[in-house]
Amino acid sequence: MGLDQRLTERLDSKKEDGLYRELQLINPSHSDTDLVFSSNDYLGLRADKRLIAAANKALYECGTGSSGSRLTTGNSIWHERLEQRIADFKQTEAALLFSSGYLANVGVLSSIPEKGDILLSDELNHASIIDGCRLSKADTIVYKHADMDDLEEKLRKAKGCGQCFIVTDGVFSMDGTVAPLDKIMKIADHYNAYVIVDDAHATGVLGENGRGTSEYFDVAPHIVIGTLSKAAGTEGGFVCGSKTLIDYLINHARTFIFQTAIPAMSCAASYTALEIIEQSHKERELLLMNIKKVQEALSQMGYEVKGGSTPIIPVIIGEAEKAVLFAKKLKDNGIYAPAIRPPTVPDGESRIRFTISSAHSLEEINYLLEKVFFIGKELNIIT
Ligand code: PMP
Repeated sequence: MGLDQRLTERLDSKKEDGLYRELQLINPSHSDTDLVFSSNDYLGLRADKRLIAAANKALYECGTGSSGSRLTTGNSIWHERLEQRIADFKQTEAALLFSSGYLANVGVLSSIPEKGDILLSDELNHASIIDGCRLSKADTIVYKHADMDDLEEKLRKAKGCGQCFIVTDGVFSMDGTVAPLDKIMKIADHYNAYVIVDDAHATGVLGENGRGTSEYFDVAPHIVIGTLSKAAGTEGGFVCGSKTLIDYLINHARTFIFQTAIPAMSCAASYTALEIIEQSHKERELLLMNIKKVQEALSQMGYEVKGGSTPIIPVIIGEAEKAVLFAKKLKDNGIYAPAIRPPTVPDGESRIRFTISSAHSLEEINYLLEKVFFIGKELNIIT
């Protein structure tokens, strides 16, 4: 059998199960005709003129690419400035840039826990955490989502093994819930475990100054990971912690050592983004108001709505095919919010994952709610 034939068979089985994925073309210009209710641009910074100007300046100074890994020719003043900015923003001793949040998670998890150690991982953690755990020489034990009794039980059983590490998303990407980081820190303290938090969706959003779940709960996890690709509107991942931690990662994290650095223009844009984020109190208030309005309206319509006070608002549809049809009907109405299906979410829990931005106007939100109401009625999801 030829390779294409083998692959076609596997793709056909995905199609039969309603799990086939296709790329959708989204107009990247700033005058989108589609109303996007699924992006991670929570503060509307992606097309902010201040970020564009900063990127532009660095682009002309340093060119389009970085030309090498950080340890060879790819380390510019912009990379170092941004790292210092990230550390100041997250209030840690030091920070290290990776090319993406995905690679930051994989880099930390594959290099720090050792053989004989235990990684305790929330069952809803992001795929990049799961992949990092798979690459780690430590054993991974999965605990029930945000279930502190289960976490404690598993820590108790792991007593006598090697060092325990608890790893959790700060805000869970598919459910929009916030990890109980205050409780996790207490439990970790009691069992002498280290805490690693992936604050991808909380950075810029949670906490008085947008510093993330650490600020929101006023705690200091041992390792904080994040990305600049969401509220910061740019690209690149980072790890924050002690100087020793960063020194260790520079010497051991393969996804740092062997990856070409992101271009200086991205670093310059991110630097400006973090300055703006710290001052974006009004935008965060607006974001919270938008979130509350959408959550309350959808619940009142009779939808099963997940999430906490975060920009991720998943609406459970159930069957994968129905969720795809729902997304198609939204698209026909000029709204882009794709269906999320297994294996990203459990069977029977296919959903539309709406995300909200402070840049959404009241008019746009009202339009979304009106269409979601009519589509839900039409598909018999709400009565
Ligand atoms: N962690 C979480 C929780 C995420 O949602 C994502 C992005 N989907 C990542 C990490 C990866 O970040 P990046 O896009 O920068 O690779």
